[in-house]
Amino acid sequence: MLAARMFGKNDIRVQEVPTPTPGRGEILIKVRSAAVCGTDIRMITNGVAGIDEEHPRILGHEIAGVIEALGENVSGYSVGQRVAIAPNMGCGICEPCIRGNGHLCPDYKALGINLDGGFAEYCVVPEIAVRGGNVCILDDGVSFDDGAVNEPLSCVCNGFEHADIRPGDRVLIIGAGPIGIMHCALALMAGGVVYLSDISKDRLDSAKAIYPKINTLFGDTKQELMKATNGYGADAIITACPVPAVQSLAVELAALGGRVIFFGGIPADKEPVGINTNLVHYKQLILSGTTRASLAQYRKTLNYISSGVLDISPLVTAHFELKDIKSAIDLAKNGVGLKNVLTF
Ligand SMILES: [Zn+2]
Ligand SMILES: [Zn+2]
Repeated sequence: MLAARMFGKNDIRVQEVPTPTPGRGEILIKVRSAAVCGTDIRMITNGVAGIDEEHPRILGHEIAGVIEALGENVSGYSVGQRVAIAPNMGCGICEPCIRGNGHLCPDYKALGINLDGGFAEYCVVPEIAVRGGNVCILDDGVSFDDGAVNEPLSCVCNGFEHADIRPGDRVLIIGAGPIGIMHCALALMAGGVVYLSDISKDRLDSAKAIYPKINTLFGDTKQELMKATNGYGADAIITACPVPAVQSLAVELAALGGRVIFFGGIPADKEPVGINTNLVHYKQLILSGTTRASLAQYRKTLNYISSGVLDISPLVTAHFELKDIKSAIDLAKNGVGLKNVLTF
């Protein structure tokens, strides 16, 4: 099969490799859509410990496809089913895992991160993930692209749930990349009045073109938000960019009793970030953060798509064949378009 393997920093090679055969308890997926993510770009740009010339890895953790073959002893699935694959898997027996937070397991693994993923014609789902329910059947109306893009959507849903958005809440999202726009979509679904801020006018315009109910804020975020909300601020603020100053600012922009969600991580060399804790004290704010998504959230957002309460299809702005993966990576790296998807 054809696969895009990472051999090291900025070293992706599209090669013919043996098609894997599913072992006992495993499922072989014929990949149909695999989306490129900011995490892939960071892995490729910064390099990853353990990935080198002798230990290449197939990236890609936003995956949907068709069940091609079942290993021995797999029940509940059949060949030909259309599926999306939740990439995160925990050990299944530790405290976070039994609480349903396999994505926070100390022995966490994920397809396309520490196991071979979906930037290939075929991908094997390990037994622990099959048994854990990571292979999710796609309803008829849900496209493979939607199935793939559901992965980041589920991570966004994790942050969204922490933000506890109620109808009429003023919601500020900072960062108009694909993640920030997905936050807008969920906040709108919950009945929030959504403000989206970014330093790029183009990104704001493309967000507004997809979801016209978004109020875009360009320029000085504080000034623009206060103008738009008559000095009230925001009931919920979600930072969807890796900028430390934005995290400090978010606390200033929160209304009384506001919730601030640090969704985007910041580079390790920028830690720690200064936060005015007196603002948290006097405004009775709740600060939170989220990373990745639980399997329950992954299935929940698939239901949002299949039931029609949420449409994320306009977020896919370009398709590529696997052999052209470098073009897809370049677009993602340069922030051109939103989700770049490999189709097979
Ligand atoms: Zn991702
Ligand atoms: Zn565990």
